[in-house]
Amino acid sequence: MAINVKVMKRSAGKSSYMRATLKGMSLTFRHMAKSAGDRSELTIQYPDVKKELSPRWRGTHVMEQHEDGRPKCVACGLCPTICPANCIKLVPGEDDQGNRYPIVYEIDEFRCIFCGMCQEVCPVEAIHVGNHYENAEFTRHNFVYDLDRLMAQTHPVTLLWDPSDPAGE
Ligand code: SF4
Ligand code: SF4
Repeated sequence: MAINVKVMKRSAGKSSYMRATLKGMSLTFRHMAKSAGDRSELTIQYPDVKKELSPRWRGTHVMEQHEDGRPKCVACGLCPTICPANCIKLVPGEDDQGNRYPIVYEIDEFRCIFCGMCQEVCPVEAIHVGNHYENAEFTRHNFVYDLDRLMAQTHPVTLLWDPSDPAGE
């Protein structure tokens, strides 16, 4: 079967890549000229100097705890259920009064994609993604944070949605 190919006729101005190329180059040169004047905008002396993170930055998790040191988690099972990376391990327990608590609670920070859904779904605001990113390790196993390690994190927790920004709801 013959196929009809329709050849579009465009003016040279529309079919040429020259205009887009020049536009891109002008942007590049504008940034070059700007950075030649003030390099501090582009380069920082990390790790001596660190950039301030957005309050919505999602990084290393924090488990909130009660004043007596118990984790706030009530082992409801919502966060391991919703986690898209399947990186939360929970073994729930129950005390004599029927209060649920986590016997085992682990997050594999290496598999985590820091979506923040665990924080969003938690009914008691126990687990949070944190305002922190320096969690490099030498071994794969060390990326698995257990309950004690999650509770020992001291960095600020993430403000997931900016209340003053209706588009962020
Ligand atoms: S931030 Fe997302 S991927 Fe990471 S543990 Fe929470 S739900 Fe899972
Ligand atoms: S959603 Fe909250 S209370 Fe439920 S298991 Fe996860 S951390 Fe615990």
